[in-house]
Amino acid sequence: MESIDIQFDTKDFSEIFPFYILLNEDLVVLAHGPSINIVSASPLHHPFGDFFEIKRPSIEALNFETAKGICNQLLILQTKKNITLRGQFSYRPKQHQLLFVGSAWFESTESFNDSGLSMFDYAPHNSSVDLLHLIKTQSIVNAELVEVLGTLKSQKSELEKVQKELITISTSLEESNMRYEYVNKATSEAIWDWNILSGDVYYGNGFEKLFGYDTLNASANFNIWEQRIHPKDVDRVVANIQGYIDDHEINNWKEEYQYLKSDGTYAYVIDKGFIIRDLYGNATRMIGAMQDITAQKLEEQHLRLLESVIVNTNDGVLITKASRGNPIIYVNDSFTKITGYAKEELIGKNPKVLQGFLSDKNENERMRKAILDFQPCEINTINYKKNGEMFWANIIIKPIANTNGEFTHWIAISRDFTEFKKMSDSVAYLKNFYDEILNNIPTDIAVFDPNHNYIFLNQFAVRNEEIRKWMINKNDLDYAKMKGIDNGIALKRWKKFEDAVSNQSTVQWIDEHKTADGKSNFVLRYLHPYFQNNELKFVIGYGIDITERKLAENKLIAALETLRKTNLELEQFAYVASHDLQEPLRMVTSFLTQLEKKYNTQLDDKAKEYIFYAVDGAKRMRQIILDLLAYSRAGKDDESKVSVDLNEIVEEIKILFAQNILETKTHIHCPLLPIVQANKTPIRQVFQNLISNAIKYRRSGIAPEIEILFDKKDDCWEITFKDNGIGIEAEYHEKIFVIFQRLHNKNEYEGSGIGLAITKKIIESIGGKIWVTSNENHGTAFHITIPF
Ligand code: ADP
Repeated sequence: MESIDIQFDTKDFSEIFPFYILLNEDLVVLAHGPSINIVSASPLHHPFGDFFEIKRPSIEALNFETAKGICNQLLILQTKKNITLRGQFSYRPKQHQLLFVGSAWFESTESFNDSGLSMFDYAPHNSSVDLLHLIKTQSIVNAELVEVLGTLKSQKSELEKVQKELITISTSLEESNMRYEYVNKATSEAIWDWNILSGDVYYGNGFEKLFGYDTLNASANFNIWEQRIHPKDVDRVVANIQGYIDDHEINNWKEEYQYLKSDGTYAYVIDKGFIIRDLYGNATRMIGAMQDITAQKLEEQHLRLLESVIVNTNDGVLITKASRGNPIIYVNDSFTKITGYAKEELIGKNPKVLQGFLSDKNENERMRKAILDFQPCEINTINYKKNGEMFWANIIIKPIANTNGEFTHWIAISRDFTEFKKMSDSVAYLKNFYDEILNNIPTDIAVFDPNHNYIFLNQFAVRNEEIRKWMINKNDLDYAKMKGIDNGIALKRWKKFEDAVSNQSTVQWIDEHKTADGKSNFVLRYLHPYFQNNELKFVIGYGIDITERKLAENKLIAALETLRKTNLELEQFAYVASHDLQEPLRMVTSFLTQLEKKYNTQLDDKAKEYIFYAVDGAKRMRQIILDLLAYSRAGKDDESKVSVDLNEIVEEIKILFAQNILETKTHIHCPLLPIVQANKTPIRQVFQNLISNAIKYRRSGIAPEIEILFDKKDDCWEITFKDNGIGIEAEYHEKIFVIFQRLHNKNEYEGSGIGLAITKKIIESIGGKIWVTSNENHGTAFHITIPF
């Protein structure tokens, strides 16, 4: 705009522009409006710069030229009293002066009140009215008026232009406002607008979307925002935002913190704001947006977790590129520990460096194919450490894709399972070993779980392999049903199973199976429950085919029965024969005796000798018959068992043989003997036979020393009769127990050879045993046992 020059009447001018200031080219104040005295100390005739500071526009150095340069622009002055004046400089070319026209400007009524100004310090700003006022009170030359009018006209058109511009600006403002609304609606961020002076905050729709808060109805102010910040972040964030607000230099603020959502959980947010400041740099408003980065944060945490798993796991982790040659780009510490290679020795190499002579070619080939097809794969193979040592490696590989779905890397997890392999090999070996044994013991063996179901059967339990497999997890009733056979045996075994479990002990019984040809097969069965910590774990069952044994047993029983009958008959025969023979023998003896008596004188010596031999023979025959009778009766006593005091028996015998003992100077050494349960008479006969033999078979010239000893065994008494007599050669140790067997003739030692046979028969009839230990000339010991 062109400068105008008007005749200056300070009084009139002051009425219209109470805040004007007129400056000369030295920027000394020539005149000023009356209100200037209120907002500043009177600057008249003083340099302008001493009283006023130009706040805007900023100029480097204030002088007439620079001041002239900012004519017709909005000018903000600040007085020493801290009062702001807004107006503009105009240049008066003729006078070479500058005229400031403006007014005081306040941001609040309080500051206006404090300033000391009143409404009278303000004049209407319509320049046309001002002009009319001037015209009315001021003489103005026409030419100048024309000029002024021209200026007014051009001002008007200028104003219209400005108006048009304003309309365009407001339209574009509206558009940008709408754009803001669209952005607000469309953005995934929560937009906020904070009036710092009032504390009010406008929240965009994003707040509802992201955090669930009703932004329309909710009261919103700075305090609410502060309350929703996580306690661990709030001090830091508030201090930080305050710092930015106070620092006039920085307008872009950014913070990361946790923000409370309406559902009570916290979201991780990035909050960015822009600070709007007033002319003095004071923050008046702040606009920003919050972005919910919870998912990203969780992903980061997840990644960190995965990373720590990879770094800390005991498994070796190796990452290669998926590109040609699959060079290794990462190995974790465990991998270097397992293989003995340093990281730098592996980076860039192909994982094949770990393979060697014994690596499983088929497994490697399988992995190679999987890599070509980008398929995950698991192999077990031998790998080699740096020092050449082998180890069993379990390797799992997986292709890794980028966000576009392209496979870019391979991750391999390698585990040294040498120890496990050794263990599992030996377990497999042992299993094989035991399976082999169990399958080949020619006995049917089965193991049941606590519910009667089979968990193992050997080939003898069920010969058909298919059925054997079918039986696993099934029981005997299932089997009977499947076979369509009677379930009697199954039920019987079920019951035995229960018995074995409830008694916690092995049960045994015999099953009789009828074969197709009507014969019987006998199986001796056992069920053995296995408990661990009083808990039934399994039951072992086995069956032994005892058909052969059973048949032999039956045969034996039959043979024994025949033998018993024969024996009985024989005994009866011996009894009858010996009994019946006595009578004719007595007749032979008595008639021979009669013959000798009656014809004594007629018989010569020879005849008498014959008669003597005949009578003697008959006597001996009688004795034999009596012995036979005694033997056949031995052990047949019907006496019932009583308590027999063996000490008494020995005493009775001592009395019986008193004469003999005396003559032979026999000593019988005998401790206090036990009381046994037996038939008294036969036991006395045994003691009598053995003691009398010990006296009889003494060495000539040596007095018999007889020792009776006893020992308590598990199920019997063992009594020993030890003498210091002639002894018996080993070859006769059996023979002496046979009836009528003697080692000596009658002249040497009296006797008939029946004593030991009877003794043996008695001892065996009570279930005992008799045997001899002896060396010739070293005495003899007879041992007998008497069962309890
Ligand atoms: P006997 O005494 O009537 O001959 P036994 O049956 O009592 O018949 O004895 C059989 C044989 O055993 C005797 O003939 C004798 O040779 C031998 N005998 C038995 N007891 C003894 C003993 N204590 N010392 C040595 N020999 C003995």
